[in-house]
Amino acid sequence: MTLTIDGAFDGGNIAVVGVGHDSAELTIRHDSNGPWFQWFYFRVRGGAGRDLTLRIVNASLSAYPDGWNGYRACVSADNETWRRTDTRYADGVLEIRHRADSDTVWFAFFAPYDLARHARFLGRAGRNPAVAVKAIGRSVDGRDITALSLGEGDRQVWLLGRQHSGETMASWWMEGALDRLLGGDSVSAELRRIARIHLVPLVNIDGAARGNLRGNAAGIDLNRQWHAPDPHTAPEVAAVIAAMSETGVAFCLDVHGDETIPHVFIDGCDADPLATRAQVAGVETFKAVLLKASSAFQTAVGYPVTYGGEGAPGMCNRAVARRFGGIGLTLEMPFNDSLEPPDPIAGWSPAASSQLGRDCLDAVLAALTG
Ligand code: ZN
Repeated sequence: MTLTIDGAFDGGNIAVVGVGHDSAELTIRHDSNGPWFQWFYFRVRGGAGRDLTLRIVNASLSAYPDGWNGYRACVSADNETWRRTDTRYADGVLEIRHRADSDTVWFAFFAPYDLARHARFLGRAGRNPAVAVKAIGRSVDGRDITALSLGEGDRQVWLLGRQHSGETMASWWMEGALDRLLGGDSVSAELRRIARIHLVPLVNIDGAARGNLRGNAAGIDLNRQWHAPDPHTAPEVAAVIAAMSETGVAFCLDVHGDETIPHVFIDGCDADPLATRAQVAGVETFKAVLLKASSAFQTAVGYPVTYGGEGAPGMCNRAVARRFGGIGLTLEMPFNDSLEPPDPIAGWSPAASSQLGRDCLDAVLAALTG
């Protein structure tokens, strides 16, 4: 019996070129209407007890082919608990090898976070009387863009996730951040006392549904639109800016994953030549406190120096800092693993992402009060 392979579910992405008894040739689909691809998420059925060899034959044409070097694919027997499996990248092909212990096995670029889990997250938050849940706008496909707000203070903090839909680590980060905010330790209590915190955990909700790496349904890179978002092709960004305009922004952290760099790092608005002294100081304080709060964070490695040239004015951290005068930051987490320190079993994981979400709150508080 040959294997059955598909990605015909929420967030799925794969195309089958050929399939046999224990192997398959596969390709990753392009983002809908966009040029990028790298996110894959599919299930293999009928392989129990076999040593599977799955070859993604268009890997070298993906958005960040350097990210495949040393990469290990995520695998799950239940679509809930994920680990890494034997993967090699050679001659332009990403080859995943895995012993299937169950009839159905799931594979993904990173531990997925689908719309059903997002809905459960919003539902859980909404049952807490301290959290206001609000649809701040609609996506290209007509889905709600949802913000969660809590805290009694007047300093406005915005935490954004998954402008790039395939960067699911941002969703796991959001779970950790909100759990801690609701948990009542001294840092989160003080943050809620002095600030109003707004989380937009899934900005690119259409991309998440469609299995896109980066673009929204219109094929737009949302993190290049913040200086002047087109309300028709980038309504997700226009919605967040409109909501921000009602509150102002003292601090904005935009959470991402980086396909190639094996570190957690920050890119801040301090790199903007127009940054004020207070913005530069805020970025410095955030980084200094996060270094103490999180063993996964480091400052030695970041974007290559060439990064952020012509696209920089449209990046959230730059544009929001310019427009509202607050501190703007991008947080990047790795897809494969962080070297501070590596995790040979899980790689960079939902648990690591969630812990970083918790740890970042120390740094948010310090940046607001420092
Ligand atoms: Zn990103």
